Amino acid sequence: MYKKVKQYALSHGFTVEEKEGLIYGTMNGFFFSIHQDPTTLAKHTVHLWVKENNMTAVPAIADFLNQCTGKHKYLQSASYSGTRVTAEFQGLGFKWQKLYTPCLDAFLQEFTAYCQSNNLVSCCESCGAESGLSLYQVETVEHMLCPSCYANASDSFQRRAEEISRKGSGNIIGGIVGALLGSVLGVIVWVLIYQLGYISGIAGLVMVICALKGYEILGGHLSKTGIIISCVISIVMLLIAEQVCVGLEIYDVYKDYAEITFFDAFKSVPEFLEEPELKAAVIYDIVIGYLLMAVGAWGTVRQALKNSSGKTKTRLVTQVTNTGSAGRY
Ligand SMILES: [Zn+2]
Repeated sequence: MYKKVKQYALSHGFTVEEKEGLIYGTMNGFFFSIHQDPTTLAKHTVHLWVKENNMTAVPAIADFLNQCTGKHKYLQSASYSGTRVTAEFQGLGFKWQKLYTPCLDAFLQEFTAYCQSNNLVSCCESCGAESGLSLYQVETVEHMLCPSCYANASDSFQRRAEEISRKGSGNIIGGIVGALLGSVLGVIVWVLIYQLGYISGIAGLVMVICALKGYEILGGHLSKTGIIISCVISIVMLLIAEQVCVGLEIYDVYKDYAEITFFDAFKSVPEFLEEPELKAAVIYDIVIGYLLMAVGAWGTVRQALKNSSGKTKTRLVTQVTNTGSAGRY
């Protein structure tokens, strides 16, 4: 989490959940959340949940947000859904280190003051109810919901999870074709890099990513079976790629002395590998290739397993009591 934003939050008595990248609190009586971007330090999503109070005529909230984006330098965009405000902040340019956190604060101050003076009320994101509200985190997104909307929402998450698990392995034949095509791309990259005289291991990474992507595209869904198939195909194709490279080298050397085709050279590779020096070089290439393949597969596999497990991480962050002007009448 960005240190300056964290310090700002703590000094204002807001709650900081460092591990979840989440800050929340109340300003001018209105509840808000600040979500830290996982990859960029000075990038945050701010949410507030408000609606117009029936008793008061309120100038359009969206218009006010538009003015805010013009005024606050690091507010990249702000939108209003009718119940939820989403404001995206990102520190860009030269001076953001100094000005970013004050900008975030200025927006929160200004917007909550606006909510207060226009008698807006805190509300459920889904139905607009004003009581029994709680902040939930679903995956990594914050939602303010009332108890019955939360019950509905968790039902639909459950259904989505069941749907994913029902999809099973997808179309295995299509997936295998996709993985083969993807890995052939990797083989081409491998051979090209080898020809240029570089360590071709990096192509191992390309190969497994292409194979997994290929399986997903033609198989419709990357299941555990799909991951195993794609990885096995990649492992075999890497050996073939290396054999093609060595075969090409042998062909290059012998084509001027003997009547050989590339295919003869390709078949003769195992014989040539009895020579220790060549064998060591080939093993080195393959080991590097497999290491980088593991690196390439890791991210995709982790994501795919997370998706196919069908478990949506949902948690109650905090109950939100008596915020907004509703409590002050
Ligand atoms: Zn609701």
